[in-house]
Order: sequence, then C-alpha cells, then structure tokens
Amino acid sequence: GAASPVLALHDVRAGYDETTVLHGVCLTVPKGAVVALLGANGAGKSTLLRTVGGLNRLKSGRIEMLGEDVGALAAHQRVRRGLCYIPEGHAVFRGLTVRENLRLQARTRDATAIDRAVEAFPSLSGRLDQTAGTLSGGQQQMLAMAQALLGEPALVMVDEASLGLAPVIVDEVFAFLESLAERGVALLVVDQFAQRVLQIATHAYVLRRGEIAYDGEPAELLKGDIFESYIGSG
Ligand code: ATP
Repeated sequence: GAASPVLALHDVRAGYDETTVLHGVCLTVPKGAVVALLGANGAGKSTLLRTVGGLNRLKSGRIEMLGEDVGALAAHQRVRRGLCYIPEGHAVFRGLTVRENLRLQARTRDATAIDRAVEAFPSLSGRLDQTAGTLSGGQQQMLAMAQALLGEPALVMVDEASLGLAPVIVDEVFAFLESLAERGVALLVVDQFAQRVLQIATHAYVLRRGEIAYDGEPAELLKGDIFESYIGSG
C-alpha cells in the first residue's frame, strides 16, 4: 500500500545450499531514502542484495515490496514490480551498442526517454552508437545507471558502483544516485567507500557476520571510533 515502505525485510535467513549467511535480518528502505548497507568483507552484503533480487533462496522470514510479499517470486517478477538490481561488475551487454542496451530496459518505445537518460550522464553523450564492450569501466557503470533510470524503478540496489572508477566518475555516480532519491526512488547502496556513501545516506545499517550490528543515523556512524568498531572487526 501507499504507506508501506518500498522494501522491508523481516527476520530474513538466507544464503547458499550448504551455508546460511544472513541470520535474521530486519531492514527497511522507505521511498526517497538512500540506505547505506556497510560491513566488512564477507559480512553478507552482496548475499542480502542477491536475496532481495530473487537470486538466492529465502530460507525463512519475509521480503516485502510496497507491502506485497515477494519472497517466493522469481527475479524477473520482482523486476516487473519495480526492482532494479545493479550487481558488482555492472550488467551491460558488451556486444550491443549503448542505444541497444538502453532500448532493452526502456518500458516505453519513447526515443526521447533514451535521450533524457543519456543527458543525465555527460560521459555517455555522443556514444549511443558505440559498442558497450568498448566503453571504459566508468562509462559502462554510467550505462548501467542510465538503464536503471529507464526502467522507472521503485527500488534501486547498487553493489560496489564505484569499484575501480576514477574519482571524478565516482562523483558522477553518487550525484546520480542522489538525484534518483530526490525523484522518490528508494535506494539500497553497498559500496567500499563507506565514508562517501554515508555522506549521501539518509539511513545506515552495518552487517556483521550476517546480523545487523548497527541501525541508525549515518552521521552517528561517522563519529569517532564507532565506525571502526563496526566495520573494522569483521
Ligand atoms: P564482499 O565485500 O567481500 O563482497 P559481502 O559482505 O558482500 O563481502 P558476501 O559476498 O555476501 O559478503 O559473502 C558472505 C558469505 O557468503 C561469505 O562467507 C562467502 O564466502 C559466502 N558466499 C558467497 N557466495 C557464495 C556462494 N556462491 N556459495 C557459497 N557461499 C558463498
């Protein structure tokens, strides 16, 4: 319903066939929020995004999108309900041109929608007919983001968007994520540049060994030793 958060996890247990990685995770992403999901390597951040995306089986608990239980739905059904998941290493078709990649995601045949998506990214303009595989890492990341825009998603989950990118491109990526939130999109962001994510985050969670160790203000987490005590100790 309208009052429901865009994403809500209730006591989620999930992981892989032999291993349980998430042990009872509760997490909420309201409309227009930028929620940072932090934690040391192996804490379970990517597993959480994959579970919400429908790529890992939910062992118990509930996953709700806009109040609807989506935990048993296939990944593509979640996409149809407004979920956009940009995995680490970005999801572009390297053999297709930028324009073809964007057309695949557009819910509309409206060519001006593609123009508008490209306008948001200076590094893509003039490259619509270039093959995606020949773009730089940063440009490919921008293309993945532009695709997110075209799908008109309610929820965007981004895993390590800034990995390997030049600082100026990282700024472009983060500015774009902020603009999505301003338009009412709910964002769940995993990124190694924790300090940088916390600057745009409206709420922060820290995962530690598959459990939520911190649930609160981003500013609080940036204070003193708190950050190190949560992230540093695995
Ligand atoms: P990183 O920042 O290193 O990616 P993360 O917080 O995203 O860490 P995950 O990638 O979710 O952590 O990994 C959590 C745990 O799940 C780790 O112990 C990892 O070894 C395990 N794991 C990840 N992928 C698989 C898999 N396909 N099969 C079995 N275990 C896995």
